[in-house]
Amino acid sequence: STMPPLLSAIANAGRHGVLAKSAVVMERLSQVDAVALDKTGTLTEGTPRVTDIRPAAGSGLDEDGLLALTAAAELQSEHPLARAVVGAARERGLPLAEAAGFSSAPGAGVTAVVDGRTVQVGSPSRLSYTDADADSDADAGADAYADADGDGDGDGDGDGSKTARTVRELQDQGRTAVVVLCDGVPAGVLGISDRLRPDAKATVAALTELTGRSPVLLTGDNERAARRLAAEIGITDVRAGLLPQDKVAAVRHWESEGRRVLVVGDGVNDAPALAAAHTGIAMGRAGSDLALETADAVVVRDELATVPAVVELSRRARRLVV
Ligand code: ADP
Ligand code: MG
Repeated sequence: STMPPLLSAIANAGRHGVLAKSAVVMERLSQVDAVALDKTGTLTEGTPRVTDIRPAAGSGLDEDGLLALTAAAELQSEHPLARAVVGAARERGLPLAEAAGFSSAPGAGVTAVVDGRTVQVGSPSRLSYTDADADSDADAGADAYADADGDGDGDGDGDGSKTARTVRELQDQGRTAVVVLCDGVPAGVLGISDRLRPDAKATVAALTELTGRSPVLLTGDNERAARRLAAEIGITDVRAGLLPQDKVAAVRHWESEGRRVLVVGDGVNDAPALAAAHTGIAMGRAGSDLALETADAVVVRDELATVPAVVELSRRARRLVV
């Protein structure tokens, strides 16, 4: 070819299903020596499904009621978990009330007013609450918890309330547990599960081979679910319960140690990390618009294995340039 090597590398990357935004990106990609992978939407397919619907005793809600209330609050969120909830409600043909005053806290959840009640949906470790039927015996004091024991599972003393027990039970099954509060009181818990991408394990192995170190898993999800998934694909370094700014801090820390970090994410809550990294690659199909804007390159074919393939390609191109 008569094309300059880095340009032809862009063309080749395109053939592999990765869109690089400039020739400089291919050069930077050739320099990476550490990789951080997001979980939801990146290592997983990003099309999670609701597997468990557990209305809280005393909430007055049945399964459909809890699902409809949650979906109404999630309608305006573009988070994969929100799409799962809304999809499940639509599948059951449930009518959704109109929500007002929607707001979302990245890495934590959403809040909206539904039928005059404030509904909060989100991470058990980011919401604090007391069960409506919390009894007045010895453990009642432990019912209001916000992960007081700091283990990232949102479970202050490990056994503080019925809601906490349901959360733990679902997490032990590898589910992402989402807590729903109605005017601050638990309305129930949803269990949501997302399939691992079929090429996740091979991708981790290829990236380990290329960089000489195993990729790190960065996730806002709970530690239990994250470790379970990581073990399946050969990742041991797991950073769970992270907010978007924590992901940025982790990347900055490694870069301050001289590493050139490649972040692969879907841009839902990791767009700042994609921007902060030496190189950021966004998963195109699951990815948010923000991810596509922020990242240096986009995986358009929706195969994770294209990431190591393109790193390898960028190195070959660089050898031709130097
Ligand atoms: P990941 O890093 O695995 O992609 P996120 O940072 O996107 O995960 O989300 C972290 C956690 O925040 C989720 O596991 C969930 O508990 C909570 N969360 C965030 N957004 C929402 C939402 N729209 N609905 C329910 N829970 C949410
Ligand atoms: Mg994500």
